[in-house]
Amino acid sequence: MPFFVDVILPLPLPKPFTYQITEAEYAFITPGIRLVVPFGKKKKYAALAVDTHTHVPAYEAKSIAYIIDEHPLVTPKQFKHWQWIADYYMCPLGLVLRAAVPSMLLLESETELVHLQAPVSSLRISDNARLLWDKLASIEKIPLAQVGDYVTAQNPYKVVQELLDHKLIATREEVYGRYAPKEEVRLSLAQHLRKEERLMALLDSLEKFEAQRLTLLQMVQQKLPVSRVAFYKLAGVSKSSVQTLLNKGVFIATTHQVDRLPIKTEAESPLSPLTQAQQHAFEQIQHHKQNPTTHLLYGVTASGKTEVYMHLIAETLQAGKQVLFLVPEIALTAQLIQRLHLHFGKKMAVYHSRYSQSERVEVWNALLENKSHVQLIVGARSAVLLPFSNLGLIVVDESHEYAYKQFEAAPRYHARDAAVVLGRMHKAPVVLGSASPSIESYQNATQGKYQLTTLTQRFKGFQLPTIELIDLKTAQKKKQMQGVFSTAMMEAIAETLAKGDQIILFQNRRGYASFVSCMACGHVPQCTNCDVSLTYHSHSQQLKCHYCDYATPVHSHCTACGTAQPRSIGLGTQQVEEEVVKLFPQAGVARMDTDTTRGKHGHQQLIDRFQNRELDILVGTQMLTKGLDFGGVSLVGVVQADSLLNFPNFRAHERAFQMLLQVAGRAGRSGQQGRVLVQSFDTNHPILVQLQNADYNAMLTAQLQQRSQFKYPPFQRLMRFEFKHKSFAVLQEAAQWFASALRANFPDVLGPQSPPVGRIRNQYVLHVLLKLPADKSTAAPKAQIMRVTHRFEQIAAYRAVRLQIDVDPIQ
Ligand code: ADP
Ligand code: ZN
Repeated sequence: MPFFVDVILPLPLPKPFTYQITEAEYAFITPGIRLVVPFGKKKKYAALAVDTHTHVPAYEAKSIAYIIDEHPLVTPKQFKHWQWIADYYMCPLGLVLRAAVPSMLLLESETELVHLQAPVSSLRISDNARLLWDKLASIEKIPLAQVGDYVTAQNPYKVVQELLDHKLIATREEVYGRYAPKEEVRLSLAQHLRKEERLMALLDSLEKFEAQRLTLLQMVQQKLPVSRVAFYKLAGVSKSSVQTLLNKGVFIATTHQVDRLPIKTEAESPLSPLTQAQQHAFEQIQHHKQNPTTHLLYGVTASGKTEVYMHLIAETLQAGKQVLFLVPEIALTAQLIQRLHLHFGKKMAVYHSRYSQSERVEVWNALLENKSHVQLIVGARSAVLLPFSNLGLIVVDESHEYAYKQFEAAPRYHARDAAVVLGRMHKAPVVLGSASPSIESYQNATQGKYQLTTLTQRFKGFQLPTIELIDLKTAQKKKQMQGVFSTAMMEAIAETLAKGDQIILFQNRRGYASFVSCMACGHVPQCTNCDVSLTYHSHSQQLKCHYCDYATPVHSHCTACGTAQPRSIGLGTQQVEEEVVKLFPQAGVARMDTDTTRGKHGHQQLIDRFQNRELDILVGTQMLTKGLDFGGVSLVGVVQADSLLNFPNFRAHERAFQMLLQVAGRAGRSGQQGRVLVQSFDTNHPILVQLQNADYNAMLTAQLQQRSQFKYPPFQRLMRFEFKHKSFAVLQEAAQWFASALRANFPDVLGPQSPPVGRIRNQYVLHVLLKLPADKSTAAPKAQIMRVTHRFEQIAAYRAVRLQIDVDPIQ
């Protein structure tokens, strides 16, 4: 009897692939282990076994090449969850696999292996491993496919895995990837100077070089090698004197790999007792323990949602179960992570795309084994794909955030929704927290799909900030403006500074101005590859495209009509910062946006400086809206709300409300009455009026009414089909074909239509939108769509047209 195994390859294939195995392999292979299989003419991939069986497939099955693992890397529940993602978001399972598994575990034949230095000299590795490792030391790199040429092992992948496990080799992506292992240079005194008389002689000879002498004396006091960075800080030794002593051979520098995860050694602090309202929310969620469900924790800003989460986490950890804590973006949640770390440090791991592959693999394996130091996983989106073995709670913090939806590449999943499904599979409660819930979540709560729990008061009864609207049209007419600030805003800033309080100024656009426009003819320079205006960057004096890498210097004359001095239009954070510095020269001012936080710790440093009151005013983009908790802020200023309100998207108003409410929520968090000033050219805009009254319900009612009228979520489900091609004619025809094919099956099809940016990197883009009833299963429609897609892919003329499906698109 022949035996077979079905595997998922990390490739966009519609189905698992079947391979032939021997009876012994059949007995050995369990779902979730990796196998190396041949695919295509020459390639080999590490693939995941999903099932073994004896059904002869319709095609001639090849044999597997090797078995890599003895124990599964993926759990059955995890498979089921991935399968749900693949089905719901209409994406090949192989791409879910790729998104989920650290690439180091998905070796491919082209994967290049490189040599790493051994951390210790006495190594206990197999002869074959040693042979390969030595070989790698002498030649730069070996592709995985050629490993067999260097070692005679039966299963060369085992040898590779052994070296990877010992951190003696790495994959090239890892080493040359964006985030190389963290290294530290350490300094020590040269061996020959450890004899006292030599040292004294050297010190004497340095008499005339005071700085070097002092530096050397400092080093003598350090017994162990010290980190170079730490040494610079020590008693103000200069880089140049250290360098001189290095050049003279007095100091020796060695490089060490250091642990990125801060190791928690001190005792964990106890949790604060909950207030009555918080306790009530906590109990409501706990109450459902027997029959776990999804909870929407709708609590105003600074009501203590985080405190409630922490008590829930503590209970769950106590019970020996795992917790998944999802955040929209790791880099922007440093403050929250510190807070969690303070209480749960010993049991907590952060799963982060910036961590190295080996760190990710460590977390992966530790989770599988239900190790206690990874009982609490804090992570963004992709953490929902990890191998939880014993999940007892999922928290989705700031659950309204759009960053939870992946939209660039498949799988285009929404981590909030994937978390709800994951919770159900594990019978674990899911808590969606927010001060401005998404309309979908709120609707689910009012319809009884989710349990609604509210916190209506700030901690200790602190007042919510007052929100005032400032009409920029009037202010300009009455000449009550200084640059971008109205007199009212200026006065508020001055008063706040006089009180010694801090200020946050929000402008949702980075850079300087959005674009330049000719004063005479109105011409706006466009990208040559994309249908989009170029953005002005004053720092580099360039116009840049934010969709491709195109950049051009700012011309002194309009390229269309030749008039001198094009004028900049729109307002960015950089300009706001410059004006604040000019108007309030005595204040400490800094800016927080993607331009100023590029470095690994840039964001953290800014937050620390603001928290330590080294800064009075922080100017920033939506980065500022995310869960920051600063006690000293009593004024929040929104410089120009208008750009937020004028987005051509059915979610624009909901989003503007959420963003403004969140940024307003940064004011007055520790007792002082907070004040929020919102400048706008359109102060009668319904969203601003709803914001002023902090009236979520009014926003909800108005939006629901519009969404129902125009057939949008939560009343309908959306599915978007995106087509791309370099010829507009071909694209148009292809998208038309697809839209008509859909129309033959479904009543509600829109398009094809051009998105706001209709050409990106010389590829034209068209969208077709399908609306489906929200109250019916999508299984049957999806099967129909797959048939249409399949037919589409058979048409030779459209072969080069790229089709991407986005289920529940957010923009
Ligand atoms: P949210 O997550 O709802 O924005 P936080 O949990 O950040 O609110 O609480 C706001 C502030 O109030 C924080 O500084 C927090 O430490 C404090 N706070 C809230 N609840 C308590 C409590 N029960 N005991 C002590 N401090 C609390
Ligand atoms: Zn471009």
